[in-house]
Amino acid sequence: MSEPIIIPNNLKPVDGRFGCGPSRIRSSVISALTSSGTNILGTSHRQKPVKQVVNRVRTGLTSLFSLPEGYEVVLGNGGSTAFWDIATFGQIEKKSQHLNFGEFSSKFAEAAKAAPFLDDPTVIKSEPGTHPLPIAESGVDVYALTHNETSTGVSMPIKRPAGTDGALVLVDATSGAGGLAVSATEFDTYYFAPQKSFASDGGLWIALMSPTALARAAKIKESGRWVPAFFDLNIAIENSKLDQTYNTPAVATLIMLAEQIEWMNNNGGLKFAAGRSAESASKMYGWADKTSYTTPFVTDPAARSNVVATINFDESIDALEIAKVLRANGIVDTEPYRKLGKNQLRIGMFPAVDPADIDALISCIEYLVSALAK
Ligand SMILES: *Cc1c(COP(=O)(O)O)cnc(C)c1O
Repeated sequence: MSEPIIIPNNLKPVDGRFGCGPSRIRSSVISALTSSGTNILGTSHRQKPVKQVVNRVRTGLTSLFSLPEGYEVVLGNGGSTAFWDIATFGQIEKKSQHLNFGEFSSKFAEAAKAAPFLDDPTVIKSEPGTHPLPIAESGVDVYALTHNETSTGVSMPIKRPAGTDGALVLVDATSGAGGLAVSATEFDTYYFAPQKSFASDGGLWIALMSPTALARAAKIKESGRWVPAFFDLNIAIENSKLDQTYNTPAVATLIMLAEQIEWMNNNGGLKFAAGRSAESASKMYGWADKTSYTTPFVTDPAARSNVVATINFDESIDALEIAKVLRANGIVDTEPYRKLGKNQLRIGMFPAVDPADIDALISCIEYLVSALAK
């Protein structure tokens, strides 16, 4: 075996975490955990100190997304995956339409298809690396979109489809929320988890819900549909209004989430946060476009995600080997999405990532490509 390749320190990023979830958590956010340690961590989630943290999350998100009057920030345990089941029980009245353009966007459609009390959903599928658009369809009461398909690095504009009055627009924004621009009037339920753009830990789901989405949850409950308490959106809504969750949350996750939201708000809000990701993305795709051995996997520049870049490498270069050597040098989680099976790297460019670290990552990749060619 040859000598291990050592990347010179002066080329390396300040922080070597480029994962797409869990993703980089800023050091000052981790410090906030220690400083709030003994009076919040390890104390009751039914008492004021923890409820105040939940309140910081709820008011912080209301401000970050400029939520109109009547919208609620709802949260509970189980991550976005749990929310697919919660929405199947509490948001779809009879039939949903799903856009499927990758691993994550296919999952909610599967949950809706398996529900015995719903009609079979309509699924509109497109090739990995592209995204389909919703089509107004009679009988459909939920349009399920995905802001950012994390497996392929494709993002789509969030726009309420024309001619669908009364239907809900549900958006899986797990990786897009906080890193991509969005207007609250274009969605009814915008749901996500804290381990991507919000740079905290996983395990929670958060849903920004419009008055129409809240009314739908209440209407389904009145209809008498059986819903297990853990998946009951109405129970989650009632608890959230009291700044608590139905069952015990991870308090550390909430503290780090509140810190990250406040960092975004204090620096200029969504414009600042999405701007950081946009700056990183323009560096990344600009490099991949001009470099002889790389191309962005997503061919349509408008569909290229600002938070997750997928970069194809020429066949003469083994991208997995690059990811492996990067990892050995402390630069981690650049591996591609396993099921996509492409010779590529996948890079998280969430707001917590300093765009200067993207420049550094690029220098490290260039260094490795030339070192491996020797
Ligand atoms: C990560 C991710 C999920 C899953 O989130 P969990 O919190 O792990 O359940 C769902 N959708 C998208 C788009 C994601 O990126």
